[in-house]
Amino acid sequence: MKTKLTKPNPKVQHIGFKNLALKGFFDAIDINKEGYVSPQNFWNELKTYGILETDVRLKDIRSTFNKAYLQNKKGIDFELFSESIDQSVLLTKTLRGELVIPDFKGFCNEIIDIYGEVEQNMGGAVANYIPQLARVNPEQFAVSICTIDGQRFDYGDFNKNFCLQSTCKPINYCIAHEELGEEKIHKHIGREPSGRSFNEMALNNDGLPHNPLINSGAIMCSSLIDRKSAIADRFDMVMNTWSELTGDDDISFNNSVYLSERQTADRNFALAYFMSEKKAFPENTNLIETLEFYFQCCSIELKSSSMASAAATLANGGVNPSSGKKVFSASTAKNCLSLMNSCGMYDFSGEYAFKIGFPAKSGVSGAMLIVIPNVMGICVWSPNLDELGNSVRGVEFSKRLGERFNFHNYDSLINNDEKIDPRKKKYENKIDNVIGLIYAASHGDIDEIKKIEAKGIDLNSADYDGRTALHLAASEGQQEVVDYLIQRNVKGDLKDRWGGTPIKDAKRGKHTGIINVLSAYLNE
Ligand code: GLN
Repeated sequence: MKTKLTKPNPKVQHIGFKNLALKGFFDAIDINKEGYVSPQNFWNELKTYGILETDVRLKDIRSTFNKAYLQNKKGIDFELFSESIDQSVLLTKTLRGELVIPDFKGFCNEIIDIYGEVEQNMGGAVANYIPQLARVNPEQFAVSICTIDGQRFDYGDFNKNFCLQSTCKPINYCIAHEELGEEKIHKHIGREPSGRSFNEMALNNDGLPHNPLINSGAIMCSSLIDRKSAIADRFDMVMNTWSELTGDDDISFNNSVYLSERQTADRNFALAYFMSEKKAFPENTNLIETLEFYFQCCSIELKSSSMASAAATLANGGVNPSSGKKVFSASTAKNCLSLMNSCGMYDFSGEYAFKIGFPAKSGVSGAMLIVIPNVMGICVWSPNLDELGNSVRGVEFSKRLGERFNFHNYDSLINNDEKIDPRKKKYENKIDNVIGLIYAASHGDIDEIKKIEAKGIDLNSADYDGRTALHLAASEGQQEVVDYLIQRNVKGDLKDRWGGTPIKDAKRGKHTGIINVLSAYLNE
């Protein structure tokens, strides 16, 4: 006796492998099972890959979908859906699992876990030498991530503004480097760690600041940026660079921080005069203007997600991952990262480079700009500082990040199975996914099967014992799953390691419906 098979959907039959994944993705978010997806479900699902609705690269798709949704409240049909996605490099990459962090959701869960551990640490104290900083609530804690593919994640107090303070230093170095080049800029600034605190009255043997990431060097960079222009234009140019780095216009200036910074700046004035006495500045440098410009740069405000994009731009060799805009040349980014690696954490820099091993820059606002080259930018913001002026939680977060992931510059030398490589998670994920697929098949979870299929996992995949989704569905009596797998043209007679086939499993379980469907399928 033959049972009638569910008629295969002709659309599904004609689409190739790539669109098969797409169809699986579509079906998984087609909640009402009517052949339509709502833009909201689509954006929610994309968010799990770190791709946000606000992404500039998806502007066209957003408006296409919104228009279609206005015309038909059921949502977007598969034809429009696949056409639109085919045109987007970003979405094609996303659905093929080709983004730099393929299992972004899993990665973010690890980050949330680290956040929870680090949050307990209330050690340290807010910077008190600038009254405006002393008043900040020390409990605040934000973490933001932006990968070189523009995958984003924000957690904690990511909606709060904070000022750049010393995290302006690497960017000011890049701006000056871009303009002058390596040789000229380093005529005025060294590139050795100072081993001293950030505002120490010390210059190197040539009478120059040790490096651009401590106060003396940062004051020097400020004197070099766009020096022929009016001071207002120079400040605009720094602000515009931050907008390009972050891709948003939400960069502001905190005047009270600036005023209080200027009022308490005896040390910075002293440093500037010290360097002036050593003839370290280019000729005709206006010291007061230079110092004020430096204080203004320290007083620029933004949110952690913006700082993460700036860090991601450095991670991506100077190109903003979302807008695609080349903000700095690759050699500028490279030199900046080298300095961040050796000098970014004041007199903790050597220890940080040794133990943690990726470039970072801290500021007394509690901000930290962290770069994992070719992978991602991270911002951690938490105002309590240690005695060296680094964010206590920022440093602890870095340590835990380095313990969990193989982000240290030289982790690649060691075959380190204890650390996760989130770039390769795709591979591990494949195993997870096959197990997930088989589990879903045995539990009758078709939606989950479609999701796994959407990631490009072959429905014929077998586990260690050679058991496939069809074996499990047949032995557990999951008729709908069996129907679905057949509709998908899976191989019906694969043998497990004991030589067992799905139909044998169905017979053992006396699942008559499935026995009928399978024998009809195999006889064809
Ligand atoms: N504005 C601060 C200063 O110059 C910046 C120092 C810092 O963040 N370490 O004192």
